[in-house]
Amino acid sequence: MLQQFLNAKLADGSLADLTVTDGRFSAIAPAANNPASLGAGAIDLAGQLVLPAFVEGHIHLDTSFYGDAWRPHIPCTNGFDVRERVAFQMQNLEQAAPMEERARNQLELCIGNGSLAMRSHVMVDAAVGLKHVETILAVREKYRDLIDIQLVAFPQSGILSSPGTAELLDEALRLGCDLIGGLDPASFDRDVKGHLDVVFGLAEKRGAPVDIHLHDGGTLGLFEIEEICARTKALGMGGKVAVSHAYALGDISAEALAKAGEMLAASGVSIMTNAPGNHPFPPVAALRKAGVTVFAGSDNIRDSWWPYGDGDMLNRAKMIGYRSGFYEDSELEAAYDVVSHAGARALGLEGYGIAVGTKADFVALRAEHVPEAVVAVPKERTVYRAGREVARNGEVVDSVGLTGLRSA
Ligand SMILES: [Zn+2]
Repeated sequence: MLQQFLNAKLADGSLADLTVTDGRFSAIAPAANNPASLGAGAIDLAGQLVLPAFVEGHIHLDTSFYGDAWRPHIPCTNGFDVRERVAFQMQNLEQAAPMEERARNQLELCIGNGSLAMRSHVMVDAAVGLKHVETILAVREKYRDLIDIQLVAFPQSGILSSPGTAELLDEALRLGCDLIGGLDPASFDRDVKGHLDVVFGLAEKRGAPVDIHLHDGGTLGLFEIEEICARTKALGMGGKVAVSHAYALGDISAEALAKAGEMLAASGVSIMTNAPGNHPFPPVAALRKAGVTVFAGSDNIRDSWWPYGDGDMLNRAKMIGYRSGFYEDSELEAAYDVVSHAGARALGLEGYGIAVGTKADFVALRAEHVPEAVVAVPKERTVYRAGREVARNGEVVDSVGLTGLRSA
């Protein structure tokens, strides 16, 4: 099947006509300004900026309350404490709407805003077993024509602290999770080696990439990052390992950061940040300059961890730019890169971008150029999956048959 899109403004400012054949760009030519010469049914984008669909690099489809009742945030008793937050989450989830419904709400929010590739962590522990994994795997299957989803088997309650979790993680990978996750090996399990032995052991056994939640700060967190880099190198897993949050990189000396950047780049370990509230976070510009792939995600959307999140990765780029003090055009373009091309690299996506041969997954919106899109975050936008319109102005369109999907 062939589709044509006329007068698309590309990121370099040029106007182009795009041809899509069987879901991929088959031709990109300077705009002809002659609609008559092009096939009937061509869509005139009238100079809208065309960007590859955004990459949601870190989200939790199983634990959000988006679209469910509002859950007031419960503060920790004595500063941020992962273990206490997990306990709050368990309490909240007991009263929540069915997981499938909440996951769908969140997925449609992300698709509506233009993310068509996603990495979601899914909780696995001795208490919930594989229940979350089974539910989210089924949801992924239903939405496969709309969005590509990678699932991380995520030990939310630690591995050694939650006996039986290692076996459950292995089973989660066997059932269809793509990656093996981890959680603060030092502060949560109090055994960096023991925790990482399980994570990288399963990675090796199942040929699965790794994405580890690391909130530990300062030299402790840095030590864990060093251990993760060393194991990545030893297993030849460069490009297949990510550290999510890596707060430590935001509160170490410039000298230590420079060394860490070099080490991360050399071992091929990428860093995910969501530019969180008032917390130190990885310095995006310095890491990018060192050659580190920095990508982004919404992380929590209206869940037991915080009330924020809107599933809009363009808005996330704005937050990253805002918190990083990015003012220049090149810096705003870097913030955009974090939610698009760098995300695609971190997730190992095939056929990403606007070029002949890539997948025609794109967003059209009204902005003069990428820097303006990052600061203005236009909510009016059209989202195309394989050249087919799937969402408009934040809503998944009826023509994708979601009603049937919902009742299925
Ligand atoms: Zn997370």
